[in-house]
Amino acid sequence: MADKRDYYDILGVSRDATPDQIKKAYRQLAKKFHPDVNKDDKDAAEKFKEVAEAYEILSDDQKRATYDRFGHDAFDPTRGGAGGFGGFGEGMGGFGDIFDLLFGAAGGGGQRRRSGPQRGSDREVRLDIDFEEAVFGSEKDFDLQRIEKCGTCKGNGAEPGSPIKTCPQCKGSGQVRSAQSTPFGRFETVKPCNRCQGEGKIIEKPCSACKGTGKVRKKRTINVRVPAGIDTGARLRMQGEGEIGINGGPAGDLYIIIVVRPHERFTRDGYTLITETEIDFVQASLGAEIEVPLLGGMSHKLEIPAGSQPGDVLTVKGKGIPHLHGQRSGDLKVYLKIKIPTKLSKRQKELLQSFYDDSDSKESKKGIIDKLKDAMG
Ligand SMILES: [Zn+2]
Ligand SMILES: [Zn+2]
Repeated sequence: MADKRDYYDILGVSRDATPDQIKKAYRQLAKKFHPDVNKDDKDAAEKFKEVAEAYEILSDDQKRATYDRFGHDAFDPTRGGAGGFGGFGEGMGGFGDIFDLLFGAAGGGGQRRRSGPQRGSDREVRLDIDFEEAVFGSEKDFDLQRIEKCGTCKGNGAEPGSPIKTCPQCKGSGQVRSAQSTPFGRFETVKPCNRCQGEGKIIEKPCSACKGTGKVRKKRTINVRVPAGIDTGARLRMQGEGEIGINGGPAGDLYIIIVVRPHERFTRDGYTLITETEIDFVQASLGAEIEVPLLGGMSHKLEIPAGSQPGDVLTVKGKGIPHLHGQRSGDLKVYLKIKIPTKLSKRQKELLQSFYDDSDSKESKKGIIDKLKDAMG
């Protein structure tokens, strides 16, 4: 995975290419490397897969954005631990879908159906979580609609008790042979029978529950455990929770794309938690001990060294964000903001003036407040 090529390079397009440009580049390359025209060329098959993978990511707005942000890591299954992040790959429809894209619409061959078992499609859903939920981990329930096998007809599409006949056109095989002309020459293809839609059977009375489709839409509640330390753009894979398979094939996978809501007090940079705290200019000058709020309601005693400057950063080891699947936590970084008083009592003014008179730098006749303001930037 380390030497994986850049998806934009693979398709030969710029990073700001439009969806049309991406599609066009993909079509050209897919034709060039298509396995049907490069039958004995293993290299072409690899190239074809590479092109298909690049297109799969770059043609999908969300996946493209994730890729732009995280690169290949976002789709690399080796980056996660057991049961963690899913990767790209198995989920693709295989060459069949690409064939459809190239020839399907133009060829007019009707719907492509495969009669063997076929894996269900993968699905992606977005899950918004709070900043704390991402940092500490959480368990979330959400509802999802999924197309499932109709329980009334057991998926065969016929009203229970009504007859199912063998298709007279294909004699039950579900397939018819035909020759097809393509830019690469003529070759024979096997197509699904259009009389029975490739099923080999004809239903006399369609099931009333699913109108003969054999499928119904069902609501399911998905329970997902969000691991501590996760960040926006991460994908959680739930095996077998995608669309159901066809003809007994396995179900696809569900990918949950995490989007973390911003926090009003904290941000993060990887596993480093970042916050800001405001102290008095006297505390900055003399040093102090203050309480810094931590995520989750706790607080931490922080030693402010004497002579601290605005923008200084204090690091609290191990109080940041826990590493995904790891024991360690990142650090907390506290940026110092220093308050300059805008109103002073008469006595405070006198004290500050005598402080100033006492200090070494008297080259300027500026007032003490201006002086301080300058110093604080
Ligand atoms: Zn049914
Ligand atoms: Zn038929």
